Amino acid sequence: RDEVNIISGALDLKKKTVSEVMTKLDDVFMLSYEAVLDFTTMSEIRRNGYSRIPVYERDRSNIVGVLYVKDLVLMDPDDDTPLKTLCDFYQNTCFFTFHDTTLDVIFRQFKGGDRGHMAFIQQVIDTGEKDPFYEVIGIVTLEDVIEEIIQAE
Ligand code: ATP
Ligand code: ATP
Repeated sequence: RDEVNIISGALDLKKKTVSEVMTKLDDVFMLSYEAVLDFTTMSEIRRNGYSRIPVYERDRSNIVGVLYVKDLVLMDPDDDTPLKTLCDFYQNTCFFTFHDTTLDVIFRQFKGGDRGHMAFIQQVIDTGEKDPFYEVIGIVTLEDVIEEIIQAE
């Protein structure tokens, strides 16, 4: 029954981590901080259909911002506005979390509202050669957590 599935989905949130439900970095639609909001780029944004687009600089794992598609409503593709102009203006903050954060914790943070509905998942990379560092390995959104609750797979 649906109710039973939803309740067991909710109880299982404690047992699952964000890395188990994330969208892997390679599959994330992102834009470079150096991109220009011309007709080609804006068509690509429209075609991909996502509301939140991570912005990286140089390396895809180096996230420097998030573009909200709603922030494009005043943009004219003929102006060729640099994406960095928009990023610097809105300064939408990125919310980072660790790969082993459990879904009940991230769900509460998403519901808290001040951090948005998308988080970047970080993992410690320790090759032994240099100092350990954090690297972004994927994203998780409120939708990914809700899918676990209603077990929509
Ligand atoms: P909204 O429903 O608020 O318009 P959306 O459809 O852009 O948002 P979500 O509903 O948050 O995105 O997520 C739907 C799925 O798409 C999730 O699995 C999420 O991880 C994934 N996702 C969200 N943004 C991106 C992106 N920029 N690139 C790739 N996958 C994404
Ligand atoms: P998103 O989080 O994907 O950007 P949103 O913030 O526009 O979407 P929702 O998160 O779907 O909207 O809804 C938040 C609340 O705002 C809900 O209570 C919803 O009913 C209400 N809402 C959504 N769109 C409108 C609207 N155009 N006018 C008034 N209330 C709205």
